[in-house]
Amino acid sequence: MSIEVNKVVKKYGSQAALNNVSFSVKEGEIVGFLGPNGAGKSTMMKIITCYLEQTEGNVSVCGFNVQEDALKVKSLVGYLPESNPLYYDMYVKEYLMFIAGVHKLKNKKERVIEIIHDVGLNLEEHKRIGELSKGYKQRVGLAQALIHNPKVLILDEPTSGLDPNQLVEIRNLIKRVGKEKTVLMSSHIMQEIEAICSRVIIINRGDIVADEQVDVIKHSLDANKGILVEFREDVTEEQLLEIEKVGKVNSRGTNKWLLLSDDKSDIRENIFKHSVSQKWNIISLTEEETKLEEVFKSLTSK
Ligand code: ADP
Repeated sequence: MSIEVNKVVKKYGSQAALNNVSFSVKEGEIVGFLGPNGAGKSTMMKIITCYLEQTEGNVSVCGFNVQEDALKVKSLVGYLPESNPLYYDMYVKEYLMFIAGVHKLKNKKERVIEIIHDVGLNLEEHKRIGELSKGYKQRVGLAQALIHNPKVLILDEPTSGLDPNQLVEIRNLIKRVGKEKTVLMSSHIMQEIEAICSRVIIINRGDIVADEQVDVIKHSLDANKGILVEFREDVTEEQLLEIEKVGKVNSRGTNKWLLLSDDKSDIRENIFKHSVSQKWNIISLTEEETKLEEVFKSLTSK
């Protein structure tokens, strides 16, 4: 196991931020750590990266205990903390040389050139960090997390505050670098986890409320899935309600409808047969996908 978290409790004074949390992450997995603000995501990540000690329980990274072998763990882990603290007065290259020195890397210069290339910072390498856009600052944060070629990457809200273009770029970068690493990445944005991760761990008020493969969890919700249908002709709500087992109908734009079954049964065949009998032309018919967002809402609003 790359990350093993066993019955971890973390208390800040009398307040418990983590209650008996356990999970593990296998080598090569990209796992999303999802939860509303204040759920305990950053606290858990700080414990895994040796920045904070747990009150109870055990955590190990690649078999090394975070309390007993902190130096070894730090050498195996790349960490991008929340809000990405950087030295704004330093130049990109100067900063990365400094971080390479902290890790006591051999061939510092070569490694810095390599990592600047890997995260796409070439055009900005001579700038001061403070002069960079938020997306490029995030690349510098990722470069410092990756410079010592760690086996495990811990990314705390890596895309928060980015504009849509920067977001896509950083997501793609994480996907690319994540191919050869174990990644645990926190977010409170469901689409993000859907876009990058294969598995999701959902935490709410210090408790793990779900730990599943993303596609499994999306189907785990006992949702009454709708069928989205587009007709060539104008049909009315009343006409659609005549289809066997259709209990509810919502308009989704011109000639587009969401049809819901009255007993959760599959209504696709009924829609098709009825349309043929009425001589309506179906342009498309698809099952509405359960969004991870709905699962998240249902699990964290209890
Ligand atoms: P998340 O990252 O999911 O937003 P955090 O791990 O930051 O959640 O916080 C979990 C809980 O612990 C919150 O209630 C937060 O207020 C509390 N907390 C976090 N850091 C501290 C601290 N240094 N002192 C006291 N309480 C803290």
